[in-house]
Amino acid sequence: MKNESLISNFLAVKNQIPEGVQLVAVSKNHPADNIKTIYDAGQKVFGENKVQELEEKYEILPKDIEWHLIGHLQTNKVKYIAPFVNTIQSVDSEKVLKEINKEAFKNSRIINILLQVKIAEEDSKFGLTISESKTIFESYLNGKFPNIKITGLMGMATFTENKNQIKTEFLKLKNLFDDINKSSSFETLSMGMSDDFELAIECGANSVRIGSAIFGARNYKE
Ligand SMILES: *Cc1c(COP(=O)(O)O)cnc(C)c1O
Repeated sequence: MKNESLISNFLAVKNQIPEGVQLVAVSKNHPADNIKTIYDAGQKVFGENKVQELEEKYEILPKDIEWHLIGHLQTNKVKYIAPFVNTIQSVDSEKVLKEINKEAFKNSRIINILLQVKIAEEDSKFGLTISESKTIFESYLNGKFPNIKITGLMGMATFTENKNQIKTEFLKLKNLFDDINKSSSFETLSMGMSDDFELAIECGANSVRIGSAIFGARNYKE
């Protein structure tokens, strides 16, 4: 995509996002040059879904980029991103959480994480159940993961045209967010992508993950 269209897409998206809502620009499958264009236009927070791609882009792009991992993370790959990743949004098991805590400790860091909660009806999506999320959060409050900061929740709605269904799923996550927020302070509710971010914001999201509306359709051919 040409730089002008990238920048105009980016500005159009920015315009639709109210103040106080964070934009995570999802750059997966797009070249580093395109990220640099958006970076130069003022965006500093980017999301990737694969460890290796994230590492490669981290190496060559400016070091003040705040990188978020938004895709499923295998325990044996945590070590590759632990030195630099800002937030891992896709924590979907206590096992991976333990590993992140261990690697964060080795790197003398505190890594921010979001618990990914399964709100979609589809079977294919990763994520914790609501009760698993609460259990993990309790172990966290008991000091089990000192090198991790659980800053909030992430969820993905079902891929459907049915707005009511999407809304119901988003509100389910918002309820859990409010529930946990009663006992401790949570910051981030990450929900909404290119097709549903406006609805997500209406339902209480304060962080959105937007890819194709900025970078264009992804080309999965390598
Ligand atoms: C790819 C992806 C996005 C961005 O999707 P778009 O529809 O391109 O905006 C957001 N969140 C997650 C977890 C993703 O994998």
